[in-house]
Parts: sequence; structure tokens; C-alpha cells
Amino acid sequence: MRTWIALVALIAAATTAGCGAKAGTLEASSEALGAADTRTIEYSGTGKWFQFGQAPNPTLAWPAFDISAYTASIDYAAPAARIQMTRKQVIEPGRVRPAPVDQKVDQYISGTAAWNVGAAPGAAPAPQPQPAAVEERTMEVWSTPQGFLKAAAANNATSTPSGGGSEVTFTAGKSKYVGTINAQNQVEKIQTWINTPVLGDTLVETTFSDYRDFNGTQFPAHIVRQQGGYPVLDLTVSSVTKNGAVDVAVPDQARNATVPPVMVTSEKLAEGVYYLKGGSHHSLAIDQTDHIVVIEGPQEEARSVAVIAKAKELIPNKPIKYLINTHAHFDHSGGLRTYVDEGATIVTHEMNKAYYEKAWAAAHTLTPDRLEQSKKAAMFETFSSDYVLTDGRRPIEIHPIQGSGHNDAFVMVYLPREKILAEADAFTPTAADAPLPTTPNPFSVNLYENIQRLKLDVRQIAALHGPRLTTMADLRAAIGQRSNTTN
Ligand SMILES: [Zn+2]
Repeated sequence: MRTWIALVALIAAATTAGCGAKAGTLEASSEALGAADTRTIEYSGTGKWFQFGQAPNPTLAWPAFDISAYTASIDYAAPAARIQMTRKQVIEPGRVRPAPVDQKVDQYISGTAAWNVGAAPGAAPAPQPQPAAVEERTMEVWSTPQGFLKAAAANNATSTPSGGGSEVTFTAGKSKYVGTINAQNQVEKIQTWINTPVLGDTLVETTFSDYRDFNGTQFPAHIVRQQGGYPVLDLTVSSVTKNGAVDVAVPDQARNATVPPVMVTSEKLAEGVYYLKGGSHHSLAIDQTDHIVVIEGPQEEARSVAVIAKAKELIPNKPIKYLINTHAHFDHSGGLRTYVDEGATIVTHEMNKAYYEKAWAAAHTLTPDRLEQSKKAAMFETFSSDYVLTDGRRPIEIHPIQGSGHNDAFVMVYLPREKILAEADAFTPTAADAPLPTTPNPFSVNLYENIQRLKLDVRQIAALHGPRLTTMADLRAAIGQRSNTTN
């Protein structure tokens, strides 16, 4: 079989017309797509965007948003790019979500600076540095047909014949790219790998089809990108401009921005119960007789390392035996691997276990974390209905939040002795002086119904997002219930 393919390739090569490069090669594709003289490219279209890591449950794809406007403006020399998008969440049949609103995205990369431009309601648009996004946005520049060909030429790409065309491989920076060029000299597919905390080395695969002549430039009219096994972008391109002005000037705020150090603050909620904040995602540490229980391992390893250090400082000389995970959304599970390395048992809804096992078994070599080095096996304790962890003194109740549109394997944690509720994403308090929402968030309404159903006597709500500790009165106010309503 291999010999036969080699023979066919040899004949194909020998019979190619004498002028220009052989069809299906890197050179022929570069010529056909005009890669060498493409300094900038701008393409626009509509389609769908999908929110990576936010599947409604671990067996489903990333949730979809309709894109009503999308423009990518790329300057290959800088390299720099600006992506503008207007998107709105698609509500899946049978799933209750907040009423979708248009989200306007304006994001930039230039060299090693990344930033977004956006505005808080009523404020002027201002650049917000996004130093953690540099790797992913750089990948997007070279994951365009002309960009791939230019990067291949600049990075000593190797080429092997494949299916009438070629497979082209190179490394740019620390990222590996593998592209497929077909017999029509079109870049058909580009694969590259980026680090994401849950999935580790994450394949990003962009496929290009329906190539057309856009005012003299060959460009695909259909672009689909998959990341972590599901689509993140499905774009129908309607216009392409080559070598127009692309002005991506780095604002001062973004010029030397670095990822800020992780901050962990602590607030004592009751004897042996600590609310660990300091960033966008919070955790709780609970002092049990001979061990520590942590609620939530969000974001990524740096946060876990800092939270673990703070928990051990507050509760010395005890191991972290359990980590309770509220749900599998990546921003709430990206730090779990560090707790596995720490020797903690991951306590999560049974629906999540198989997903974590598969994800964590994959290579995490691009940005090796502690677990990649220790290779410890994950220990799980799972449940599908109300569950209790106890040291015989302090019970910690875990309750699935039933019927939430946010996630199907979603839990809240309740301390019946202290009457403290910890929950993520169902109710995120705003600042004490902020106006109340005009429409109640259905996730918060659902949380309230679950608290009622379980007859929990909640005195304090330690939300895993948001600026402050709240009470049932705050939750009731947020969902438009009168404050004298009993819970
Ligand atoms: Zn979530």
C-alpha cells in the first residue's frame, strides 16, 4: 500500500506541467494564494461562534452564539490582528437561559501584546490588557491560509506528499503547525496545539473550503475551527480585502502588560470556614478535624497553588483531603489537576467523572503542570443526588441544583451548622450600591427554588464570583421578590 502511494506520488510529480511549481506543493499553493505579496488581509462574514469550555454538560458541544458581524483584520508583518464580532447566544430548545443580548467583541494582538477594547456601561471604551491571550491570538494569525503559507516559508517548513497535495509542518515560536494543501493548491486544513488548563495540549483545527476569487484574492468562503473536539467558529466569508490598511497600534496600557500575580484574600465566615477571594473566581476552605476541604478549584494551576498555600496557612498541619467541584465549566475546573497532585479526592457530580478522566489523561506537555510531572491518578467521590461529607462534627452538604439551564451537573454546597451556602454562577452578586437587575436572572430564580425545595436555612451566601458576601435578602431582591418573603 505504502509503495503504491509512493509510486502514484512519483508519477504525479513526474507528469506535472513544467512551468510553475508542482501542483499541491507549498510553493504552488503560495503562488496560487498570492502569499508572498499578501501584507495584510481583512475578511468579514457571519456565522456561529461557540463558547469553549462552557458545555451545558460534559457530553455536549460548546454552546452556540449567532455572529451577526465578524471582521478579522490581519497584518502579517507585525504580526498583528484585530477581531471584531457581534454575537448573541443561541438558546437551546428546552434550556432556560438569561435573555440573550448582543455582545460586541473587539480584540487585538500585536507582537507580544494582547488587549481588548470595551466599555463598561456609560463609560468610554478603553483598552484592557489581555496578556494571557497572546498565545491563542498569535495562533489565529498563522491559522489563515496566506498566514500559514507565509509562516511556513519563514520557518523552514518540511513538506511530505499527501493525497495529491502535501502535508506541511513547521514550528513558529513554541507552536507546531501542520497544514494540508490539496491538489488544487488550496490550504485545506491547519492544525496547531495550544495549552488549556483542563485539556492540556489542545488541538485547534481550522478547515477551509469553498475557495473563491474575492477581487483577485483566492480565499475560502467557509472557515470552521474546532477546539477540544467541538466547533468554536463556523464562518461564512462574504468579503476579503488584500493589502488594505490595518492599523493595530499598541496602546500604552498593553505595551508591557504581564499576567498579574494571583492574589488570595481570606474572610472568616464562621469558626474554621474561610472565603478565599482576591480574583474573579473564589473558593472556600473548611477546617475539618484532621483535614481540609476546599470548595472549587477554578481557572488554572497558578490560582490553585496560591489558594492551597492560603488554606494551609489558615489551617496549618492538615492535608487537603477533598476538593468539591461545583460544575465542569473550564473556568471552574481549570485548577482541579493541582488538587489531584496535592492528593485530594475530587468530589463532583457523577456526570463529570468520565470527562475529567479522559481530559486529564491527555498530554499536558506544552505548559506542564504539577500533575503532568507527578502523574498521580485522580481519585473521585461522585454522586447523583444529595450527598454529605462529614468529619462527624461538621457536615458539608452537596446538593445538585435541579433544572438549571446553566449546567446539568451543577451543585451548591451548604453548611447546615453555619447556615452558609456556596454556589457558582447561579447567583453572582453585584456591588452593594449597584442597581438591581430589571429582569431576574433565571439561574438565580432557579437557585432560589432549589433552596426552597430543600428547605435550606441560608443566612449567608458565599458566591464563587462577585464582590461580596450576601444573604437571602440579596438573592430575593435580585430576583424581584419582596424582602419580607420567607425563604
Ligand atoms: Zn459556569
